[in-house]
Amino acid sequence: MAFIPVNTPALEGNEGKYLQECVDTAWISSEGPFVKRFEKEFAERVNRKFAISVTNGTVALEATMQALKVGEGDEVILPAFSIISVLGAVVKAGAKPVLVDCDPITWNMDLNQVEDKVNDRTKAIVAVHTYGLPVDIDPLVQLCHHKGIFLIEDAAESHGLNYKGRPCGGFGDISTFSFYPNKLITTGEGGMVLTDNPDLAERLGLIKNLFFTKDRFVHEEIGSNLRMTNLQAALGVAQLEQIDLFVKRKREIGGFYNRAFKELKQLQLPAQNTEHAENIYWVYGMVIKDQLMTAKEAMKMLGQEEIGTRPFFWPMHLQPICQKMGLFVGEQYPFSENIAKYGFYIPSGLGITDPELSRVGAIVNKIFS
Ligand SMILES: *Cc1c(COP(=O)(O)O)cnc(C)c1O
Repeated sequence: MAFIPVNTPALEGNEGKYLQECVDTAWISSEGPFVKRFEKEFAERVNRKFAISVTNGTVALEATMQALKVGEGDEVILPAFSIISVLGAVVKAGAKPVLVDCDPITWNMDLNQVEDKVNDRTKAIVAVHTYGLPVDIDPLVQLCHHKGIFLIEDAAESHGLNYKGRPCGGFGDISTFSFYPNKLITTGEGGMVLTDNPDLAERLGLIKNLFFTKDRFVHEEIGSNLRMTNLQAALGVAQLEQIDLFVKRKREIGGFYNRAFKELKQLQLPAQNTEHAENIYWVYGMVIKDQLMTAKEAMKMLGQEEIGTRPFFWPMHLQPICQKMGLFVGEQYPFSENIAKYGFYIPSGLGITDPELSRVGAIVNKIFS
């Protein structure tokens, strides 16, 4: 039986046509017309004034830190349960990362713990929307406003997701996206930084382009080359045309699994909604209850049945590099630790077929009933 990968993207719209256009016109660099078009259309979709395309979601966060002048002596609050890119951006900027545990149901940052971590050195809070459900972001917007702290919104897992009817990525002083092939829309590799602040937008434009200013080859700050190519943006434009379709399909996949697994008392399934949002199931994650088996053991069994899986994120405070750096010594984040050990996700990419979904559903049932 053929292996079912954890993710396959869907490239069934105008992707080929627009790529051919790049080749036919020989516009393949970042100067090509799809780049501006993708930025404009993406900004409109997320209700932002400015969108600055970059090469991936990780450097989007790094450029954000530089744009906000996060540096030595600053603290940045972030979730213990998230991707290393977030912590990496803080550490590379020379600032101190401060962790918050996750909520056991939504797997998002527990807002009740955030305020206690704020002090005079706090420069920013990074809110990451996790696995398809948004952080309850309005209270964070208010807290940041009240305390004079920047809010960074990492929306890499939430293209097309709404919070209180408004698009995620529309709330932070700066918000970031990734277009890696497992994200809701993809450009192969790619990222976007969005803001409504013209000064930050200008700084981001400089940071992504070596800090070239009008006085060519005279530089006021060290930038990087983070420029997205016309080829990537061509994919982006084509993918963005299908975003509503993609969200609908993701919800179909999520709904299918919810029904297929509803009798499995040993599995905690993703929350279908919060007070303010409906899950888009960026990935379909599950947490094994009562220490029945670890995620590693479950993933091994599914692998033997030719089904691809991924473990949940490994928490920041348990990362070997953090321990080596002497970060988070003696700190505990029990919910993050628990879902890291017992959580994993199953195939739910936009390229998955209905027969593949049925097979995954049947095998998960076989293993857990
Ligand atoms: C995928 C992801 C990133 C990193 O994006 P890349 O394009 O892979 O560098 C950052 N943050 C979150 C929340 C992500 O899911």
